[in-house]
Amino acid sequence: PDGAVAEALQYADVAALLPEPTGESDKYRRGVVGVVAGSARYPGAAVLAVAGALHGGAGAVRYVGPAADAVLARFPETLVSAGPPAKAGRVQSWVIGPGLGDDTSGLADVLASDVPVLIDADGLRLADRATVRSRTAPTVLTPHAGEAAALLGVDRAEVEARRLFSVRKLAAAYDATVLLKGSTTLIATPEPGAPVRVNPTGTAWLATAGSGDVLSGLTGSLLAAGLGALDAASVGAHLHGLAARHAAQGAPVSAQDVAHALPAAWQDVR
Ligand code: AMP
Ligand code: MG
Repeated sequence: PDGAVAEALQYADVAALLPEPTGESDKYRRGVVGVVAGSARYPGAAVLAVAGALHGGAGAVRYVGPAADAVLARFPETLVSAGPPAKAGRVQSWVIGPGLGDDTSGLADVLASDVPVLIDADGLRLADRATVRSRTAPTVLTPHAGEAAALLGVDRAEVEARRLFSVRKLAAAYDATVLLKGSTTLIATPEPGAPVRVNPTGTAWLATAGSGDVLSGLTGSLLAAGLGALDAASVGAHLHGLAARHAAQGAPVSAQDVAHALPAAWQDVR
């Protein structure tokens, strides 16, 4: 797939895709995001994924996992479920993986669901490729170069040297939409010959712990609102980069700052 064409998403494209509530909207129609993330060791990843989803426009966020106390302390609006994901109630997209550690208990339910699923971080390592391929609803994978290299069984340097090739190869291997993170973000779909989208809106200040977790939640909220996998990933990357520029103004940012700046990014686009 070395002959791939890359295309940038323009502001006008993003504006047309932004989900806006109307008079008929209620929280369910706006989209409920289910988040399976966090662990005793990394509770903050759950908090940041929830932050990305809530500030990214979700009508509601359900959290399933061991970091419920940390999530509720920061976001009392979160709906917390104690049982497995399949028993969590209505969800229009799942985000699984940030800070998950080695906990595979929610994975089968999430992958078996008939709603879009975003897999990030530890979830990428834990998800079985054949199971992902057999899904009928959309799947989005969001690796950075190191995670992509592990999935492809190559060195990180090889992914860095051939990013366009690598993102397309992963999309084909998993029959999924793949968002490859980095200083520019690439988004590929599995269709042979389909163009790869390029997102240039970020800033190097995004290279900070937890910023990817915010992107996961944000993209999950766009999937729950009804955007297709390619559009959700493209708009997510675009808003995430803009939010980081807003928050940073040429100075350091934390991942929380990026989540809090998502509404400002939203206003930029529309
Ligand atoms: P993660 O590696 O999961 O924490 O995600 C990091 C986030 O920061 C992704 O959205 C990357 O695209 C972004 N990022 C990392 N390094 C850079 C960079 N040098 N310039 C712009 N964005 C970056
Ligand atoms: Mg990450």
